[in-house]
Amino acid sequence: MKKIVNFIWQWKLFSLAVIALLVSLPLYFTGLHTAAYIILAIVSLSEVFPLLWDMVTDIRSGSYGVDILAATAIVAAVLLRQYWAAIVVVIMLTGGKSLEDYADHRALSELNSLLSHAPTTAHLIKNKKQVDVKASEIKVGDIFIVKPGELVPTDGVITSGQSSFDESSLTGESIPLVKSEKELLLSGSINLDSPVTVRSSSSAKDSQYQQIIKLVESAAASKAPFVRLADKYSIPFTLIAYAIAGSVWALSGHAIRFLEVIIVATPCPLLLAAPIALISGMSSASRLGIIVRTGSALERLAQAKTIAFDKTGTLTSAKLKIDKVTSFNGFKNNEVLTYAASLEQFSNHVIAKAVIAEAQKEKLKLVKVKGLKEIAGLGLKASLKGQTLVVGRASLLSQEGIKLPEDLVHPKQANTIVYVGLADKLVGYINLSDQIRPEAKKTLQTLKNLGIKHFLLVTGDNRQVAESVGSELGIEDISSDELPADKLKTVEKYPDRPVAFVGDGVNDSPVLAAADVGIALGARGSTAASESADMVIMPDDLSRVAAAYLIAKHTFKIARQSILAGIGLSVILMVVFASGHFLPVYGAVLQEVVDVVVIFNALRAHTTKYVSEAI
Ligand code: ADP
Ligand code: MG
Repeated sequence: MKKIVNFIWQWKLFSLAVIALLVSLPLYFTGLHTAAYIILAIVSLSEVFPLLWDMVTDIRSGSYGVDILAATAIVAAVLLRQYWAAIVVVIMLTGGKSLEDYADHRALSELNSLLSHAPTTAHLIKNKKQVDVKASEIKVGDIFIVKPGELVPTDGVITSGQSSFDESSLTGESIPLVKSEKELLLSGSINLDSPVTVRSSSSAKDSQYQQIIKLVESAAASKAPFVRLADKYSIPFTLIAYAIAGSVWALSGHAIRFLEVIIVATPCPLLLAAPIALISGMSSASRLGIIVRTGSALERLAQAKTIAFDKTGTLTSAKLKIDKVTSFNGFKNNEVLTYAASLEQFSNHVIAKAVIAEAQKEKLKLVKVKGLKEIAGLGLKASLKGQTLVVGRASLLSQEGIKLPEDLVHPKQANTIVYVGLADKLVGYINLSDQIRPEAKKTLQTLKNLGIKHFLLVTGDNRQVAESVGSELGIEDISSDELPADKLKTVEKYPDRPVAFVGDGVNDSPVLAAADVGIALGARGSTAASESADMVIMPDDLSRVAAAYLIAKHTFKIARQSILAGIGLSVILMVVFASGHFLPVYGAVLQEVVDVVVIFNALRAHTTKYVSEAI
């Protein structure tokens, strides 16, 4: 009973119309025609007002409400004493709006379920004792315990213990991951079997889970593009409907003929199909760990002709291998590594991770530096006992006035190289290699089959490495040695648009923001990147790019198909009813059938089965 009351209250207008119909039917059949008609007329007309009000606010906010046809139909039906037809149009219209609300609601409820899974408490270790505190009170460096079955309160590193963790709410990855000492835990993941001790690496507010909530919030707040899609069709459609209805009236001399046409022209599918398809598409994407921030991003991705890829960490896996360390000017190999790691410990770059790991393996003691600065796309700089220490690209060392031997500036082998310089001397360099991701080749092939015309490779790495990766993957358009600003220009000036850019996020923020669609892969990268991206793919899996593209295309195909089918069926009905052989109330009922069919078609965008089949 409570449910029914809630339903009626939530969808008042729709319920009122249905109740009016249910009350007037028995009245009519017991001979009380006038009473039935009065109820129908009052309810129908009173529901026109909220409709008109919505229309006014719509027009003010810049979108043209196509509801005007429906409002005309209701008023005309009452004036022409077609009360049954009037109430059916009202039911159809308010029912449609309720459905739209419901779809909106579902997007919001996804957000709510995220919020309700947000970690709230933590078992902090303070003076060797366990104290329970709010997750929001955890500071960087705090030690806490996560027991089995509990959520990890903030991002952090395991200091003792081992357990498996379910990260599915973060990355969409359903297989639990075993993590032990020194490994990173993400807030919001669930500890599945044994207790672990963790040192927090960021506050709750800056942790992964809150970042995701922020992303989803911004996604839920945007739904602009579908209005545009429907707008494109709605104005001509409205004009045509009035033209047909007006001419039939003029030719026959009967106002009822006008109504017969207008009633079947009420373009509910036009209003509903697109938003329903969009919301369904976005939520199916999120089930695969793909967070789409705006509907218009999904639309641009559906139309993308070109995809540009960052190399390191995107086409290649985020784990680099150290191949060789070479020293110069009397320095030792271990010094090269020590200096490099002393700076890299403050960087998020994939190169940094590899260097730090190597230094740890060699058990090197790092040196203390001052005034550390990371120069995006170039490397790091700091001062060591009054001398400048730099780690990064050849050009960064040149900037510091360090001369490199010619064969180092233009190396022959396809190898990522990081140089280390102290004061005006070259200390040495580290050769690293990265492996192309196992899924990369297939992903590019799938994207090509699905309709992407061009692939670009834009990287800060050197020409040789870029070309070897490019040729292995069949990418011809290669831009190498690019700074973040150059990447932006390369993507911005590329002629065949829209261009999507896919990057791991490190040093990619400007180009992610500037591309028609910026896609950040593996949201473990910097949060700055996920803020400038239009889409964030949580799992560290390149094939989800193809999934995102496929979902975008599929969603828009369904949206367009639903709109066109709705219009097509309405036009056919208009022509049929223009003949004057059918009562308006049948028209209203038939139109309702069209709506339901179209809306159910739009809901097809909710599945993800087709994605797993194609990718
Ligand atoms: P990509 O476009 O391939 O992802 P980036 O723009 O992140 O590369 O970096 C470009 C180049 O700048 C790297 O190949 C490296 O030589 C240098 N570099 C950038 N950041 C760092 C860092 N933290 N440590 C060492 N080298 C770096
Ligand atoms: Mg990169």
